[in-house]
Amino acid sequence: MPSYLRLRDPRAHAVASLNREVMKWLDEVVFDHLQEDELRENDVDSALLSAIQNSDIVYSEGVFSGKFSSNTSKALREIGAYIHHGKWRVDPAKVPHELIGAFTLSRDKAEGKVTNIIRTLRDISSNMVHAPLGIDLRKHGADILAVLDMQFNKHLEEVPLSLPNKDMVLDQFAKEMHEEIVTAAVDQVDKLAEKLGTLSETGRMDSLFAYIRGAYITSRNAVSVKMEDKINRFAMDCVEEKARLSGSNSYVWVTCHDDKVRHSHRVLDGKTFQWDDPPEVAPGRHCHPGQDYNCRCWAVPVLPFDPKANP
Ligand SMILES: [Zn+2]
Repeated sequence: MPSYLRLRDPRAHAVASLNREVMKWLDEVVFDHLQEDELRENDVDSALLSAIQNSDIVYSEGVFSGKFSSNTSKALREIGAYIHHGKWRVDPAKVPHELIGAFTLSRDKAEGKVTNIIRTLRDISSNMVHAPLGIDLRKHGADILAVLDMQFNKHLEEVPLSLPNKDMVLDQFAKEMHEEIVTAAVDQVDKLAEKLGTLSETGRMDSLFAYIRGAYITSRNAVSVKMEDKINRFAMDCVEEKARLSGSNSYVWVTCHDDKVRHSHRVLDGKTFQWDDPPEVAPGRHCHPGQDYNCRCWAVPVLPFDPKANP
């Protein structure tokens, strides 16, 4: 009489808790060095001049674009600018001389700031490998394992079960997770620097800080995805090893049953597979649930006996 080990999936909780720490670390190591104050530094009196100097507003051929406040709008009206088809426009001949100077200056200044930021990012990226993460990764792995241990032991009361190589498994997890996070972070910081390097060519020097924040958040998410993937694999590796130890030869593939499940995994839902023979998820590629890229699928281990029926 086979029995099914329906385990509570510890991954979402583990991902959320580690993600908080990784994002905090990333903000401290990277984002806090891209100071808003410096980007918004202000050294002129006039609202319009200061907006231009801060690169909040850019001017090109009779059109102003960027971020407008009530002060800058008032100042624009004073120089004869008007809104037409949702854009601030002005007769180029009417633009005061000191503003024309500021437009050029503002662009040079913005470019100078971007160059500084790129330099900062390069420094961060090369120091990152040696700097401590300050996150107890081993503990995060141990928490996942504890949830699994508790559930396996509940189902298999007669055979309390813990991985014999638990210490090694956790050391390995911490080491690989550290590598995963740091490699992804270095990669993303380099990408961010590259992206900023093309900023002056693509001409987006207005709203500099908003642009950098947007690009940084994209990078942050990419690091998060790598971390999540690693947790998913680790948890499923532990389930596999513990299931095998408890006498299981097979499992039932279970998806999250939502819209995001890819077709190649949806067709595996509810089917039984051998631990020794993972199904093909893409041409030539075989794996168990949670071991494919970004896979949130889960396994229900099958025991070929009823553990509670043993004398
Ligand atoms: Zn999946």
